[in-house]
Amino acid sequence: MKTEAAVLSKIGGLEYLSVREHQIEKEPDTILVRILQAGVNPVDYNLINGNIIYSINPVPHVPGSEAVGIAEESGRNVRKGDKVIIYPRLFDGTCVNCEKGMEEICFKGGLFGVNSNGAYSTRLYVKESNLFVANQLDTDIAGSMPVGGLTAYHALMRMNPGEGESVLVYGASGNTGIWAVQIAKALGLKVFGVSGKKWLSGYGLDGIYPIDSIPADLKVDMVINSLGSEVFEDSFSHMMKGGRITTFGVYTGKKTQLDISAIYSNEFSVIGSTGGSRSDMAGLIAMASKNRFKMPVEKRFDLKRIKEALEAFKKKSTGRIVIEPSQA
Ligand SMILES: [Zn+2]
Repeated sequence: MKTEAAVLSKIGGLEYLSVREHQIEKEPDTILVRILQAGVNPVDYNLINGNIIYSINPVPHVPGSEAVGIAEESGRNVRKGDKVIIYPRLFDGTCVNCEKGMEEICFKGGLFGVNSNGAYSTRLYVKESNLFVANQLDTDIAGSMPVGGLTAYHALMRMNPGEGESVLVYGASGNTGIWAVQIAKALGLKVFGVSGKKWLSGYGLDGIYPIDSIPADLKVDMVINSLGSEVFEDSFSHMMKGGRITTFGVYTGKKTQLDISAIYSNEFSVIGSTGGSRSDMAGLIAMASKNRFKMPVEKRFDLKRIKEALEAFKKKSTGRIVIEPSQA
């Protein structure tokens, strides 16, 4: 079947990206999805620009790891016309981790849009096991769940939050940060954000601080810090004894120094997190169906303007940058 897609002829920069006719083939257990909205996230931006730690295939490549669409075929659990969220992890369903429900660390796993062609396309075939029906959800909310929402949900759940506990979210105004703040509030946590953005005050935080002005006496049970090396160790100074910290990103760099004695003497837990499982996806959809989550969109682009969308991503300041390949 012919579709229109943003195709990267070679990895290494926007100059290799062009929107053109693209052939897609049906494979077993897949469903044709018309893409309503695909997000631009660091994973996509970095992939296109060649700054990525993953192997990328196939090449030429269609990027786009985060998307929501409409099923154009019926399957076992999906009906034609359903709004579907694409769960963004590739998994075999048979390894030890998959059997434990930890598809995000499948031994033969990968990322949708990185280790497969992604959603910067009007249509594509997606395995039904990667589709979650979400007819009740607003498209902007559903569209930001696969990467931003799922990453935040899983990162919080990895710390086993108890009601009334507190969490400090670094990068609180980013796609994942806004989700982390709202999910943490829905879980009944006390939430502090690190960000210079004043508009975050509309999200019910218990405190917002620019990165250089976090009060020295602020101590929390949990920290989410995906900003990377520059401020990672600093987070420890805001953790109570027994505190947990989760990371899933290296925005300011990969390597840092850690005071090992601070980790053991305070019984800190340093936890890694990547994406989330299918049961996290279901949990997040259930939570979003009961809560009025907000997800600001700063700019919308049709597929033909994808290069402008990627440029806009570099400068974004108030919300997501989204591509709408096939809204009509
Ligand atoms: Zn597996």
